[in-house]
Parts: sequence; structure tokens; C-alpha cells
Amino acid sequence: MSKYALITGGSRGIGKAVAKRLAKEGYTVVLNYQSNQAAAEAAKQEIESEGGQAELLPFDVSSKEAINQALDQWEAAHPGEYISALVNNAGIRRDNIMVFMSDEEWDKVVNTTMNGFFYITRRVVTTMVKKRNGRIINMASLSGLKGMPGQTNYTAAKAALIGATKALALEVAARKVTVNAIAPGFIATDMTKDLNVDELKQTIPMKRFGTAEEVAALVAFLASDEAAYITGQAISINGGLYT
Ligand code: NAP
Repeated sequence: MSKYALITGGSRGIGKAVAKRLAKEGYTVVLNYQSNQAAAEAAKQEIESEGGQAELLPFDVSSKEAINQALDQWEAAHPGEYISALVNNAGIRRDNIMVFMSDEEWDKVVNTTMNGFFYITRRVVTTMVKKRNGRIINMASLSGLKGMPGQTNYTAAKAALIGATKALALEVAARKVTVNAIAPGFIATDMTKDLNVDELKQTIPMKRFGTAEEVAALVAFLASDEAAYITGQAISINGGLYT
């Protein structure tokens, strides 16, 4: 039997680094992505070339129907197996100050974070609870802890994700399933490449952006047996930017 880890948004950025790291820890990684198939195929190949095992499972995390269809398909192809680590990582930014924010900018960001969290986790946690084994790790953000101007949509979604992490952790703690959130500061990925890096670096006590691999190391620890007594936490990884 393989140990499976589902990583949403596992084809690029932080999710890809998480997938590579969890594959090294012995998980068969299930990489979700939305549309960039070339990036997903490349991530799968990289993992396999390092001796790991990876599968692709494309679907839009903001769509309840797409989630259910993809997970039905996965379960049918893996009878008797289950996902024992879930990393709810897929996320997007659509920044705008509130007075100019469109309905679409609000809906897209909130639905990507919250629908993805709810509809995927509800299915996956049901089996984890039965098996008395599971790790759920939700990729929140510094923005969800402190609030960022131009991000009422993103801050709201990430703060809600942290709240849901704490509530679910209490529901499943006795069944040996842990639920934690990670709150990264600025991490160098496609998501942050449009920012003024030189200016922002000066605001960070460590004077640099974090790397996806540094976030992946924290995910790997939370997913490990050694982290069995940590649950309901939102753990910051931000170079000292806000603690
Ligand atoms: P990224 O480089 O932009 O990668 C985003 C990933 O999410 C891609 O694999 C993308 O797939 C996938 N994705 C986007 N929308 C999706 C959807 N609707 N359904 C399925 N997959 C979807 O982002 P990142 O910087 O690695 O960020 C990863 C997570 O960390 C996000 O939740 C983000 O909010 C959070 N975070 C990032 C930072 C940072 O500084 N980078 C800081 C704090 C928190 P496609 O390639 O198919 O589009």
C-alpha cells in the first residue's frame, strides 16, 4: 500500500516544492493543478527523475462539481487506498482596493481558497477519521493574520481558512488527524514576481524573500509522525516580518 498525499496547486511554486519534498519522504504525491498542463507534467517528471512517485489530478478547486468528479475518479482507480496527507495549497491573488474591487475579483479569490478547502477536505477527512490517521495542512498567508491593503478578498479568504483550520482541528483531534495552517510571508514564486522585490525586501527583517523549499520543509514536518501533537495552529514562516 502506498501513502498518498494530495497537493492542490502542486504543479508550480510552493505546491511543487511541497510535492517534491513529500515524494522524498515516501509519499506517492497526487498533483492537482488547474490549467497549466506543461508545468504539471514537468513537475511529475522531476519527481520521478529523483526516484519519487507522482500522479496528476487536474481540476478547478473552486468548483464543487469538478472536485467531486476528480475525487470519484481517483477513488475508483485506487480501490482500498486513501489520501493520508492533504495540502490545501492552491490559491490566487486578484488585488485591488475595495472601492474598485469587482464582483469577479472577490468571488474568484474567495471561492478558490474556501471551496477548495471545504469540498476537498470534507471528503478526504471522512476517511482519515475512519482510519485514525491523517494530516491536513492549509496554506494561508501573513495577509490572513495581519490584513494587507489591496487584499480584502485575499485577506478575508486566508483569515477564514485559519479559522476553519482551528475549528476542524478540534473536531478530529481525538481521531489522530491533525489540521494546521501555514502563514507564509513573501515567498519567491510566480505569484509574487510582479511585486517590487527590492523595495519589499527592505521591510523584511531577514532582507530577503523566502523560498518555496523552506515552506515545503515546514509542510514535511507537519506531515510527519513527529508532529503528531501539533494541531489547530497557524504557523508563520516570514523572515521575521510579523510575529
Ligand atoms: P503560484 O506559483 O501562483 O502557483 C499556484 C498553483 O495553484 C499552480 O499550481 C496553479 O495551477 C494552482 N491553481 C491556481 N488556481 C487553481 C484552481 N482554481 N484549481 C486548481 N489549481 C489552481 O502560487 P504560490 O506562490 O506557489 O502560492 C501557493 C499558495 O501559497 C497559495 O495559496 C498562496 O495564496 C499561498 N501564499 C503564497 C505566498 C507567496 O509569497 N508566494 C505567500 C503567502 C501565501 P495552474 O498552473 O494550472 O494555474
